Amino acid sequence: FPFPIALAGQVQRGFGRGGKDLGCPTANLPDKSITPISSVAKTGVYYGYAQVIPPEDNTDLRQEDIQVLPMVMSLGWNPFYKNKCLTAEIHVMHDFKTDFYGFEMRALVLGYIRPELDYTSREALIEDIEVDKRVALNCLERPGYQACAKNPHFSLGS
Ligand code: ADP
Ligand code: MG
Repeated sequence: FPFPIALAGQVQRGFGRGGKDLGCPTANLPDKSITPISSVAKTGVYYGYAQVIPPEDNTDLRQEDIQVLPMVMSLGWNPFYKNKCLTAEIHVMHDFKTDFYGFEMRALVLGYIRPELDYTSREALIEDIEVDKRVALNCLERPGYQACAKNPHFSLGS
């Protein structure tokens, strides 16, 4: 399978459907920026690295917020568009103190965790998200992946 898959786009406002309530805000990428993955990959949960690139006059994000950070990404059919559109939503495993709507996000998708599932309870969903995060962090521990954080797709600064 063609990993790593590089994605980049401006973070869009979603429908605020409880990402933050679930303890798991997800940054939405624009449709056109997800072609590299939607054209080759199945729906489900993926892991990899992501980086938020602030504008030059940024005063919101701190140094620690603009590093290359571990992420989990859900690729799925969007019910809002009658399941005709695929959407990619990225949860960065990092405690940002502020939102970053409109900022560029770059991501490198490195592997597949699991298919999309239907949840009957909120608790089951939250539990699975926690498992996904642990799986992602474990996978990224492997020495081969550390190098991916230094991929030239990211802005590696000074
Ligand atoms: P929306 O429906 O607008 O996507 P969410 O509740 O999913 O609402 O929140 C997503 C937004 O939260 C992101 O666009 C970003 O600006 C912000 N955010 C804060 N922390 C994170 C994080 N750790 N991962 C992803 N987005 C985050
Ligand atoms: Mg979201």
